[in-house]
Amino acid sequence: MGGVRVRPPALLLVLSLLAACAGTAPSPRPAPTADECCFAEGLRIAERHRVAAIEERRFTANELWGQLALPLASPRLRSEVIGQSVQGRPLVAITLGSGPVTVLAWSQMHGDESAASMALVDFLTWVASEDTSAVRDRLLRSVTVTLVPMLNPDGAELFQRHNAVGVDINRDARRLATPEARALKALHDRLKPQFGFNLHDQNARTTVGAGGRQAGIALLAPAISEAKEYDAVRARARLVAARMAVRLQTQIPGQVAVYDDGFNPRAFGDLIQTWGTSTVLIESGALAGDPQKQRLRALNVAALVDAFVSIGEGAYERADPAWYDRLEQNRGIALDLIVRGAQVVGVGPEPYAVDLGITYGDAVAKTQPRLSEVGDLSGATALDTLDASGLFIHPAPAMLTDQDGRRWLRIGSPAEYTLRRGPSPASAAVTVDSLRARR
Ligand SMILES: [Zn+2]
Repeated sequence: MGGVRVRPPALLLVLSLLAACAGTAPSPRPAPTADECCFAEGLRIAERHRVAAIEERRFTANELWGQLALPLASPRLRSEVIGQSVQGRPLVAITLGSGPVTVLAWSQMHGDESAASMALVDFLTWVASEDTSAVRDRLLRSVTVTLVPMLNPDGAELFQRHNAVGVDINRDARRLATPEARALKALHDRLKPQFGFNLHDQNARTTVGAGGRQAGIALLAPAISEAKEYDAVRARARLVAARMAVRLQTQIPGQVAVYDDGFNPRAFGDLIQTWGTSTVLIESGALAGDPQKQRLRALNVAALVDAFVSIGEGAYERADPAWYDRLEQNRGIALDLIVRGAQVVGVGPEPYAVDLGITYGDAVAKTQPRLSEVGDLSGATALDTLDASGLFIHPAPAMLTDQDGRRWLRIGSPAEYTLRRGPSPASAAVTVDSLRARR
């Protein structure tokens, strides 16, 4: 110890003050703990009251309302028909609670975006159930919530985005040409809700920030004008989204993004914000190993239960806008899978060094792979990459176009192939799993 010189305390103090001033941004308020009501309860509700009959993303309006028939008999739920779709399917709003704060949430205005509809079925089943949880009492006492599950039943019938006349209902908020958009607008104008939730599914081919991880959920407090300023209405929406973001991060760390906030004067989320309702957009993306979005369904239940109670009781006001402002941006990418470093055989006279860029017909379930790009893809990004260096790609017949004894590898073909150790069809095959293990 003899040679060590001890710094005078005054200098230490100055140094620590300097260190404290070095960071210019104020540190955000500490994130809430998981046991603070009501996100963790929401996850338990999602598990216990999951309606097992709806187990896949694609289901029809009949199936949805069939599962809700029993819950809707509960005195806690009041339902009313608010309109009819182009093809005559009823559009139904369900109201619960008697609290002074009003909330309107709608799902599946895009017919193939059903994660939140599944969540609403589970949520309503819980509200109607024999469960005696204090959370439900707090929710029913503090808020009045109106839900419109599946605003686009005609689109859901074919599992497509648009309605029966091909209109994107979320681009019909201004013109109101469709009965679905008119029903939502009329309901909004009658209720004049203080808070709104616009529930969608986004492209599974979306990543978060620079890290390249798949976006599980993207949130947005939509802009009220091109200038993207915050008035009191949008600022409240940001607080709700901020609270939601930190809770979702505990479940899917690094996979919560902020959605593009460009103002769209034809979109409901943006216009409803300008009509005075503090609105949050929730976009369920996709998660690995969740081909039917059942995990995202549960996260939607938990996020909504927590949001409804915290809106009703005012706890959302303690959220820090920084939790939202620091979310990383959604980034769209083109490819689902890149197979790097192999050589393709069976097309011309020699092996060719090419990367394969593959997209799936169903990017969530990762089925129906198609050849999207072939060649040097060193600058391209994908959700998934396979390092096949030193291996040979042997295309299956389905991947090749055969004509007059000549062969083509064509973009758009089914991406069906075997990876082998050598150029000969007799050489040993290498499985994708063993390649992943090699990494
Ligand atoms: Zn959508």
